[in-house]
Amino acid sequence: MMGSIKCYWCGSSHTNVMMIHTLSGDRFICDSCLIRIKSAELNKDSCTVANMEIGVTYRVTVPSHHGEFRCGDHIRLLPDGTLECDEAAGWIPSENVSDATIGMKIRKEVKVK
Ligand SMILES: [Zn+2]
Repeated sequence: MMGSIKCYWCGSSHTNVMMIHTLSGDRFICDSCLIRIKSAELNKDSCTVANMEIGVTYRVTVPSHHGEFRCGDHIRLLPDGTLECDEAAGWIPSENVSDATIGMKIRKEVKVK
């Protein structure tokens, strides 16, 4: 049962497609489009603590140099500058945030249904 499926991104039909979850539902996408989108998304959403939005959940993609935050941790910046971490069930006070997050990269957490 090898039919070809239309890639929602480039519109061409391929036999080798992946199903991905998007905000508008499950879609099929070909390999080359998937690679393009993934690299674009990583660059677009990747940021540091300096440009975090308050109250928004971010996922750690590159751990901090001294291991305070690990890859996959979910963190949130509070209005007083405290950085809280779900996995550690704790937080870093604002005056220590810049030291504790050296080298860390994060991206906005995308909600998946
Ligand atoms: Zn495609």
